Amino acid sequence: MIPITAVDVSEAEPLVIEVLRSGDIAAGPMVQRLEDGFAELVGTRHAIAVNNGTTALVAALQVLDLPPDAEVVTSPFTFVATLNAILQAGATARFADIDPDTFTVAPDTVNAALTARTAALLPVHLYGQPADMAALAPLARRAGLPIVEDAAQAIGARTAGRPVGSHGLGCFSLYATKNVTTAEGGMITTDDDTLAERLRLLRNQGMHGRYDYALAGHNYRMTDLHAALGIPQLARLDELTAARRRNARALTEGLAGTPGLRTPVVGGHAEHVWHQYTVRVTEQARVSRDELAERLTAAGVGSGIYYPRLVFDYDCYREHPRVRTGPLPAAAAAAAQVLSLPVHPRLTAAELSTIITTVREILG
Ligand SMILES: *Cc1c(COP(=O)(O)O)cnc(C)c1O
Repeated sequence: MIPITAVDVSEAEPLVIEVLRSGDIAAGPMVQRLEDGFAELVGTRHAIAVNNGTTALVAALQVLDLPPDAEVVTSPFTFVATLNAILQAGATARFADIDPDTFTVAPDTVNAALTARTAALLPVHLYGQPADMAALAPLARRAGLPIVEDAAQAIGARTAGRPVGSHGLGCFSLYATKNVTTAEGGMITTDDDTLAERLRLLRNQGMHGRYDYALAGHNYRMTDLHAALGIPQLARLDELTAARRRNARALTEGLAGTPGLRTPVVGGHAEHVWHQYTVRVTEQARVSRDELAERLTAAGVGSGIYYPRLVFDYDCYREHPRVRTGPLPAAAAAAAQVLSLPVHPRLTAAELSTIITTVREILG
């Protein structure tokens, strides 16, 4: 089976052993090293490590001190953590539609979703492709709204000359399947000294000095054992991303002209990091999207549907008092058509050609 993701953390062994031998296995020098690496990558003054990407989003929203009736405008086509974080932070979620080419929120629909209660924008850089920040950042500035970027899938991506995560509060995930992993982990990036200070307090029970509490906090800490896993990957990120880009190019060339299949489109100015390589299986295809996925599995090619439904399209959210839905035709069409194929850095040339020939055989 050619897996949809493959993780290699073997390079971290010496660092993990160093932590074990030090006896200092909770927060310490490795967390600091990982934070420094992230701040450098994103070009922000601060990076604050937390225990997962969902926590990063929750904490980012919490330090903004949103009013009780605050609405956060986000994408309906995302992993459920985006929505859960908004709800966990006590805010109301409102959705903008997506751009059908990039799968990220379309700025004109974000503009249309703004209300008197809108308190933050939460674009999602889906599949490793940045949302249109060149349009969203000025839109937020004009409306006086902070930006929280869900960059969980987009470590190292850039758009309009700037790294994702540098437009306000950047939230990254270091979960096992993400482009850089610490098994579980998250990171928040910001240039704002006050927010950074509050995030560090919030992460550690609101504690200034020993038993001196400045705010009602939580335990959002990352451990040194986890941080050690991510340090070598972050150091090699350019190389790992270059491999993803090469694989994406090979897939797009190899799959070009396949009937009923649309290969991914990279938006203008976007530097995509290919967390996922996601095609659309259109109505013209000989088989349905789901049948293509089944036949790929039978042929030993892994694939994934990210995501089969809009994020709120479940009873627990449809009936939730703090979820505001509406018609979102572009996102609904994407959910019905998308299929992600393996693009991870460990793919071999032979595996890439197996993926291409198998898809072409099934679609004719
Ligand atoms: C993975 C992911 C998250 C959450 O990250 P965890 O580390 O799993 O908590 C949030 N948003 C998106 C878009 C993700 O893909």
